[in-house]
Amino acid sequence: MHVKNPRVVFAAGAVALVAVAGFVFGPMPPRAPVDAAAGATAATGGSPSGTWQDGGTEPSPGTPAADPARTRGPVRSTDGGVVPGTSVPGATVPGATVPGATVPGATVPGSLPPVVDHGPRTGRKVALTFDADMTDAMRRQLRGPNPPSYANLAIVDLLERQGVPATFFLTGKWVQEYPELTRRLAANPRFELANHSYGHDAFTPDCYHLKPLPRREMTADVARTFDTVTPYGGRQTRYFRFPGLCHDRTALTELAPLGLTVVDGDVVSGDPFARYWQPIVRAVLSQVRPGSVVVLHVTEANAPMTDEALPHILAGLAERGLEPAPLSEVLGGAARVASPS
Ligand SMILES: [Zn+2]
Repeated sequence: MHVKNPRVVFAAGAVALVAVAGFVFGPMPPRAPVDAAAGATAATGGSPSGTWQDGGTEPSPGTPAADPARTRGPVRSTDGGVVPGTSVPGATVPGATVPGATVPGATVPGSLPPVVDHGPRTGRKVALTFDADMTDAMRRQLRGPNPPSYANLAIVDLLERQGVPATFFLTGKWVQEYPELTRRLAANPRFELANHSYGHDAFTPDCYHLKPLPRREMTADVARTFDTVTPYGGRQTRYFRFPGLCHDRTALTELAPLGLTVVDGDVVSGDPFARYWQPIVRAVLSQVRPGSVVVLHVTEANAPMTDEALPHILAGLAERGLEPAPLSEVLGGAARVASPS
């Protein structure tokens, strides 16, 4: 697993809580812009441009989503405590019957969250992850005269029909708009649920024209999202993906009390606002490797070709001997503990 924050402080005895795999030291290579159904457009060749719901335009290709240099170094949480409404990792999953059972992605509260791009490059597993964005602007669309759908049922149908494991990064507001679908996702034993913020605001000052979230609200925003998703049960995790993948040291510091793992991804599908499915398929299949974390969207109106691309992606993965798996299994689950090696 590639971790951009190698000097995370892991307290002795907290090992059982840590769900991240091995650490790899070194700076991150620059990434292509991603996200995120917020409105970044496809960063891959030939993809059409699009505009984001709040009127922003796509970022220019080559813009790093985050500056890894700003995310490194041991940092304690600002208040050193656990945010109200959050509980100790391992105790947050309804129906968890095994005492001490670990929640994937759970880390020691108070330590700077590790930032993960992918799992070990061995084996055959890859993670298909689907972001479920929901901004206030998108909500206004839903209340308008011709409401779009931000829930791509064709994707869920296909994954269920073929028994394909997947992981869904849910915003709290998306869950509120689509509670039935959230229940359906949670009920699938092959699906994991993760956190994509409450209202898809920006956690850095400049992130694809997303509305900046004040620093003082960051911790509560993400905690509130866990609180919104957790009651649905199923395969809950402490994985968090920043909107637009935009994060800096400040944002990571604010999330330290929550005991989570930040998951970016190493395969950018470029599916937001795509007009054709072929570039999405090409982008995924040209980058995917064992251990990859593929970033896709389940937001339909803002990623309208993803369900068209998905069968071809699945076929291409099979041809390459790669096998979709829940994110926790791709990252190594709780079986491997972070260690500097
Ligand atoms: Zn997003």
